[in-house]
Amino acid sequence: MEETRRSLRSRVREVVAETGSLVVPRRCPCGEEGSWLCARCAVALAAPARRVEAGCDALQLLSGARIREERHGATVLPAGVDHTPLLPVLALGEYGGALQELVLAWKNAGQLHLGGRIAEALAPAVTTLAASGGVRRPELVPVPSRRGARIRRGEDHVAELVRSLARTGCGRPLLLRAVPTTAQEGRGARQRRGRRIRVTGAAARRAGARAAPVVVVDDVVTTGATLRGMHEALTAQGMRVLGAVVVAASRLPGHDDLARW
Ligand SMILES: [Zn+2]
Repeated sequence: MEETRRSLRSRVREVVAETGSLVVPRRCPCGEEGSWLCARCAVALAAPARRVEAGCDALQLLSGARIREERHGATVLPAGVDHTPLLPVLALGEYGGALQELVLAWKNAGQLHLGGRIAEALAPAVTTLAASGGVRRPELVPVPSRRGARIRRGEDHVAELVRSLARTGCGRPLLLRAVPTTAQEGRGARQRRGRRIRVTGAAARRAGARAAPVVVVDDVVTTGATLRGMHEALTAQGMRVLGAVVVAASRLPGHDDLARW
C-alpha cells in the first residue's frame, strides 16, 4: 500500500512537471519571447544550403603539383599545388550570429524542438546531393557523437536530426555503430588530418554489401576531419558516400579557395 502511494505521488509529480512545461513562455534562442523561433532568427534557416568543402582543410586532397609554370594550349597553370575536395559538403551558412545561437540552443540548451525546423531547412540539401548521385532517397548517417557529450546532454542530437530529416521524406535513417578511435600509434601526417572512425555491426555490413548511397549528417563542420573519417569508414565498408550536409560551417570558402577549383 505504501508502495502504491509512493508511486502515485511520483506519477503526480511527473504530471505536474509535464503540465508545468506547457505554460513556460515560448522564447527564441535570441531571447525574444512569443515564439520558439522569431521571424528574424528564422531568416538564418531560410537561405539555400551552399557548398563549403573548399573551406575545410582536412577535406583537401593533393591532386597535382607543378614546380614551374606550365602551359596547356591557351591555359597557363601557375607553379604550386592543386587540391580536390574529398566530398561535397552543404551548409546552411556560416557558424555565427543567429545561426550559431540557434545551433547552441538546439545542441546544448535542450531546445530539441529546433531540430525539426533545422531539418526542414536542410532537407533540400540532401535532395541536391541525392540527385547528383542519381538517387531518390539516400540513407542518412549521423556522425558519432563523443560519448562524454552524449552522457552530458542525455541525447544524441545529430541522430535526432537524422530522424527529423527522414520525417521530411528526403532520406532514410541509417544509424550505425560508429566508434571514434583514439589510437595514436603509427599516425602519420595524413592520418592526423582525419579523425579515425570505425563503423561496425550488421547494419553497416548489410549497407556495404548493397553499396548503399549515403549522405553524412553533422551539426557544424570545422576542418572536416570528422567528415573525412566518416567518408573513409563508410567507403571501407562498401557504401557510396554522396556527400555531407551540416547545419553550419565555421569557415565559408573565400576567393582563394574558389580559385583552387
Ligand atoms: Zn530570435
